[in-house]
Amino acid sequence: MEENNGKQKISRRTALKYMGLGAAVIPASIYLGGCGRKSKDSGQIVPDLTNIPTDKMTYTTLSKTGDRISLLGFGTMRYPTVERQTPEGVRNFIDEEKAEQLIDYAMAHGINYFDTAWMYHQGESEIVTGKLLKKYPRNSFYIATKMPGSVRSREDAIATYQKQREKLQVDYIDYYHLHSLSSDERYERIYKEWGILDYLLNEKKEGRIRNLGWSFHGNQELFDKVLNEPVDWDFVMIQMNYFDWKHGRVPAEYMYNRLVEKNIPVMIMEPLLGSRLAKVSRAVSDMMQEERPNDTPAQWAFRFVGSHPQVMVVLSGMTYMEHLQENIKTYSPIVPVTEPQKDMLVKAADIIRTYKIIPCTDCKYCVPCPYGVDIPGVLLYYNKATWDSNLPNLEGPRDAEFQRASRAFLVDYNRTIPELERANHCINCGECEPTCPQNIKIPTDLLNIDNLVQQLKAV
Ligand code: SF4
Ligand code: SF4
Repeated sequence: MEENNGKQKISRRTALKYMGLGAAVIPASIYLGGCGRKSKDSGQIVPDLTNIPTDKMTYTTLSKTGDRISLLGFGTMRYPTVERQTPEGVRNFIDEEKAEQLIDYAMAHGINYFDTAWMYHQGESEIVTGKLLKKYPRNSFYIATKMPGSVRSREDAIATYQKQREKLQVDYIDYYHLHSLSSDERYERIYKEWGILDYLLNEKKEGRIRNLGWSFHGNQELFDKVLNEPVDWDFVMIQMNYFDWKHGRVPAEYMYNRLVEKNIPVMIMEPLLGSRLAKVSRAVSDMMQEERPNDTPAQWAFRFVGSHPQVMVVLSGMTYMEHLQENIKTYSPIVPVTEPQKDMLVKAADIIRTYKIIPCTDCKYCVPCPYGVDIPGVLLYYNKATWDSNLPNLEGPRDAEFQRASRAFLVDYNRTIPELERANHCINCGECEPTCPQNIKIPTDLLNIDNLVQQLKAV
């Protein structure tokens, strides 16, 4: 147990040791998260958001630096937004008032890790995050940001990095990433040819970067190559959740185990696979409820990733207060998944894999589309219809049920996506595709979705 202000806090390693990751039974008295209730309509568990603990967050202490980091990290990629008129038209800006409420609530409930990036909210995230954290003592939080892959020269990369400290209003950055490594060619160009890796290592030596690592979206070859560089990496961020554990482009199990071998702390992104694991099908939900009747699907997903001892922080982009509260509850303190529960989640992932969904995580790296298409909006609308089994079956009979499903799909599509932002406005310019860390064939998928819409209209 660790002492803090006279209150006892349980660290995650202590919790894992105490409860035993392989233990089949978790003492009910220890469990503080969850306690949700079942929704009559959907059969899903609705979280209980009363009594959110302020003093029971799980922390990881890093042996290299002694940094004591909340297992739940605040991702600033999905701040709440508000529409404003600009000379170029209506644009979404961060709703600073709501963002401040979230940051203050996070700080008050033990979250001390904040992750931003140059490109989040089209450059606004770093500025707002710096501004909102300014009122807190610098040693009360850790800030992470990243070198974008879009830099165009050595000078541009250095200017970008220097500007980041200015935007964040800090003298040093706690965790600095080579952002979203996905292409060997780009990695070689920026970090070797232009010497940016040496530049950043020197910044670390000078104390302006405290920890240097990378976030990853590439193939296994690139992962192994960067991991084996003669660099003392301080951390690596991977996409990990119970679906990607076996089914990721590079399975998270592989990457996690390699990082364990090298004793490199692991940061987690996409614990909910966009938000897809927050709402699961009836079959998966039944499996979960049989194991623990009161846990929400999101709690299962967060418990899965947080139960791995090498994980130092799990990032979540929390737009709504309820999400923040639910996640705080899940990790205050964490109840690790048992081995049988882990097996159940792996089976759940196999079921989820049978749904033909587009692996969009709503990261928005592909926006803005120069032709105005709301790329993630369209893809996620399609996914939701698939997930909720509301996609009209073009192969089946054109009966009353098909007519009803078609009408519902189109009405909802028109309501969700403004006319000028729909899939039919994609002209296949190809600009978006290289930016997608999930390697989605965006124009092809948009074309397919538009074909579906046109066929349903013709019914
Ligand atoms: S390919 Fe389509 S969606 Fe992508 S940027 Fe071009 S027009 Fe926009
Ligand atoms: S299409 Fe790709 S880049 Fe765009 S939001 Fe989805 S995952 Fe992100």
